[in-house]
Amino acid sequence: MTRPQTVRLVEVGPRDGLQNEAKPVPLATKLELIHRLAAAGLPSIEVGSFVSARRVPQMADSAEILRLIHRQPNVAYPVLVATMQGLEAAIAAGAREVAIFAAASEGFSQRNINCSTSESIDRYRPLAGAALAAGLKLRGYLSTVIVCPYDGPVAPESAAIMAERMMALGCYELSLGDTIGVGTADKVRRLIEAVAERIPRQQMAMHFHDTYGQAIANILASLDLGITVFDASVAGLGGCPFAAGATGNVATEDVVYLLQGLGIQTGVNLPELAATGQWIADQLQRTNGSRAGTALLRCQPTQLTP
Ligand code: MG
Repeated sequence: MTRPQTVRLVEVGPRDGLQNEAKPVPLATKLELIHRLAAAGLPSIEVGSFVSARRVPQMADSAEILRLIHRQPNVAYPVLVATMQGLEAAIAAGAREVAIFAAASEGFSQRNINCSTSESIDRYRPLAGAALAAGLKLRGYLSTVIVCPYDGPVAPESAAIMAERMMALGCYELSLGDTIGVGTADKVRRLIEAVAERIPRQQMAMHFHDTYGQAIANILASLDLGITVFDASVAGLGGCPFAAGATGNVATEDVVYLLQGLGIQTGVNLPELAATGQWIADQLQRTNGSRAGTALLRCQPTQLTP
């Protein structure tokens, strides 16, 4: 299979990244981050989450974010929803795309959303129907597609069955998450081949965590199998809740650097993205989690475009 010529990146930093921050992040900082990411050319930016504000206090201002962002015409601003109430609040705040999330493993499903994998599909059915009826785009996330922190290795076929069931709810795309970042390239290949038996590759996105430094290798393996959508987080925002201090989401800058080197178009301005990554790392007083971003910012300006 030949590699794609263009890739769509889904920036998850403002949601998946910031939701793990212990200290509250000011609304103005979140808005500026979203605006800067859109200006850098990211076509899809996940901006918030309408789940329980008690469970995820960092996302309690998601409705305000949806109301206050200056929307760019060609940028999608999806938000997470888990209940009908959350969906209604998201719609009232102006959401045009929502994402639902399930797990491929029973242990993670029980601990993350308090129900079995089968029950999660049943619970989402009315929610998905209502979102589609309201004219929203519906995206899906499937966690623990390779290894579950509670159950251990997940069979590719089990992940594929859940992937098919999520797509049957009406998702236009399903993001497959290696939640604890332990997957290596051959496992990723087996997963993609198994899922591709049931849903088109064009509807699959990959969501890698760089906990074990495997994300870029796994993205290359995915590209070679025809995957064209990847989730990533600017500056690698977002820790790994299962390993204190460990890296979470793959950094968007690192992915763009890889793709540029392969001659694959993303529409993203890498120097601008790298500057945004350093800016948000400074705002949060944390280390910039992007190796490429950090390296580019140390270079002379003439060297910034590889
Ligand atoms: Mg993540």
